Amino acid sequence: MKIDSLIEEEFRLLEPQKKALKRLKLETVKDLLYHFPFRYDENFSTTKIKDAKEKESVTIYGEIKNLKTGKTFHNKKAVATGTLDDGTGTLKIMWFSQPYIAKMFNERDLVKVDGTITSTGNLTNPKIEKVEEIDVQNSGPLFGEIDNSIYPVYPESKGITSNWFYHAMQKIFSSEIMENIEETIPEDILEKYNLPSLKTSLIWIHTPQKIKDSESAKKRFSFEEILFIQIQKQLQRREAQKLESHEIDISKTEINKFIKRFPFKLTDSQNKAIDDILDDFKKGLPMSRLLEGDVGSGKTAVAATAVHMVTNTKPKDREAGNLGTAYMVPTEILAKQHFENFIKYFEHTNIKIGLITSSGCKKFPSKIDPTKPTDISRAQLLKWVENGEIPILIGTHSLIQKSVKFKNLALVIIDEQHRFGTEQRRKLAQKEDFAPHLLSMTATPIPRTLALTIYGDLDLTLLDEMPSGRKSIITKIVLKNERDEMYKKIGAEIKSGRQAYVICPRIKESDLTAGASAEEVETKRKTMYAKSVESETKILQSKIFPDLKVESLHGKMRPAEKDDVMKRFEDGEINILVSTSVIEVGVNVPNSTVILIEGAERFGLAQLHQLRGRVIRSNHQAYCFVSSESSTKKTIKRLRALNEAKNGFELAEYDLELRGTGELSGNKQWGISDLGMEAIKNIKMVEAARKESAFLAENINKYPKIKEISENQKDIHFE
Ligand code: ADP
Ligand code: MG
Repeated sequence: MKIDSLIEEEFRLLEPQKKALKRLKLETVKDLLYHFPFRYDENFSTTKIKDAKEKESVTIYGEIKNLKTGKTFHNKKAVATGTLDDGTGTLKIMWFSQPYIAKMFNERDLVKVDGTITSTGNLTNPKIEKVEEIDVQNSGPLFGEIDNSIYPVYPESKGITSNWFYHAMQKIFSSEIMENIEETIPEDILEKYNLPSLKTSLIWIHTPQKIKDSESAKKRFSFEEILFIQIQKQLQRREAQKLESHEIDISKTEINKFIKRFPFKLTDSQNKAIDDILDDFKKGLPMSRLLEGDVGSGKTAVAATAVHMVTNTKPKDREAGNLGTAYMVPTEILAKQHFENFIKYFEHTNIKIGLITSSGCKKFPSKIDPTKPTDISRAQLLKWVENGEIPILIGTHSLIQKSVKFKNLALVIIDEQHRFGTEQRRKLAQKEDFAPHLLSMTATPIPRTLALTIYGDLDLTLLDEMPSGRKSIITKIVLKNERDEMYKKIGAEIKSGRQAYVICPRIKESDLTAGASAEEVETKRKTMYAKSVESETKILQSKIFPDLKVESLHGKMRPAEKDDVMKRFEDGEINILVSTSVIEVGVNVPNSTVILIEGAERFGLAQLHQLRGRVIRSNHQAYCFVSSESSTKKTIKRLRALNEAKNGFELAEYDLELRGTGELSGNKQWGISDLGMEAIKNIKMVEAARKESAFLAENINKYPKIKEISENQKDIHFE
């Protein structure tokens, strides 16, 4: 067996097992080795059927017999049935909506069944897995060959069980693979932080003798993950610093003239951010700066000022022309909004501005009416961008297509940058020999440890101050019996001229599908109750606000439809916009002062905060109503944090603290594994990794193995 052998080649697999491995994205032996248990069962005990009592949760070993599939009597749902026999008695088992179960086992297969006895003395939807060998009479422990009582529980998928993983691991451990495992972390670092070697860690994480061992192993793997992310970031930073960049130097007087035209006075933070950027610009080295500021803190004005500095600078050794800017945003709606704002900021200059999205291109000013933008063909726009006639180009992902070529690109701005991969960022940056300056902007408040890790290659400027005069938003968790009152309040706000958002977690109602696993059915059942944009729009329009104009907005709509709705909402023709979280990112309609978030328990705190940010865009009092389907203590406590935390950063810390690893799984937003997230919770570990990574990156040539791993690892970024 080799570490990169395919699992299929080394293990005899049944069709459902093959499928399950594929779903779990496990292909090679190495993948298996790194498929870690997510928990361990201790003090494992089994029940005999003769002793099983109703409502008791049990683990029973026995033979499975009489497997059949059929339909339930009343609603004709697929059901599998069988009888479990352990020599002390028999028990009837039913699996609803999982008819495939009957096909996965043969008559008299030995199985382990976990479930709860019903009041009628049966088992419904228990977990079942095939076991290799057991003493049916004594129901001895499953893994009799090891003398501990800690059992690894793996992330499973329909068709493959923890037991299978356990045995697969035994086979791998007894092969020559373990002798050839190459250590990835330098010896002295392991020693310094008291971390086990890679080989030991692999054994300890899969088959720990003591829980403490598994914890040491986990610590090692989480440290390793964070360490390598940081090494990669450090290397990227060093790489970027090798390049030359356009030097941009513009007088403070010139900058102030531009700033004076804003219809507001900049905050101190905004001024400080502008100074930071100017300092970077002067250095002739590529800037890599992250501007992190809560929603509504006014990042756009800072960005526009940076663009002004750039367009006011002539290309090196040239008499005329302007340096260029690419301004990339994640959605079309936002691109258009920025385009319109920029027209206002730059209409007094002679600078031309372009807009590129997948649904069309625009240019400002129009030849016919120089106060307005005009539609132009993509080919024409690209030509003008390439010859430098349009120095400011705003757009979505369309900006990074190969066909887009810039003349003298000096600045790349990426708004809501967590939506972009570093890969895309680099693509833009590599369009020129001269590296453009990079200004990333995000409102996603993230814990400091996470920022240190994933933004290791960026310098940070915080906009930690809100424009003056903003009233703080009134946030209220709405209980079931307070709905009428809330709708009354929303109605009153609209009557006084304001507008409202209603956010729902889903677009449409969905059906329960037959053939889904019990878990799938359960999650489906839960989401069934989540309000959808479609049905909420109907209810609000017909029953609650018949006199108002209620419309929907969501990601599945065609771009033209979305634009139309957005435009009419901006123009005040629509009173209530029912939407999915697509409006989360940067939409700015100052007249909307109310947001109702349905199914709030489904959103992360930081995301809720972003959503709430949609309504603090003016000096009117704003309201955020938060409604959750679940009213468990935990949910309510979490939602309360929205009121208690002073800002988004505090919320992010809170979210990190409250979410157990289990809840973090599947949270792809972070781009870091659950194990890595454990390290993120630990500032000491993150700081240690940062220190070591700086050293390793600086001396990377002495560490060929680390260099190789860093070069091959997937770039980490927010999804
Ligand atoms: P974000 O940081 O979320 O991108 P925006 O740049 O969209 O925020 O700004 C939000 C709103 O605040 C806009 O309407 C903008 O014109 C306004 N704004 C920005 N800076 C100030 C300021 N210093 N004083 C008052 N209003 C401001
Ligand atoms: Mg913004």
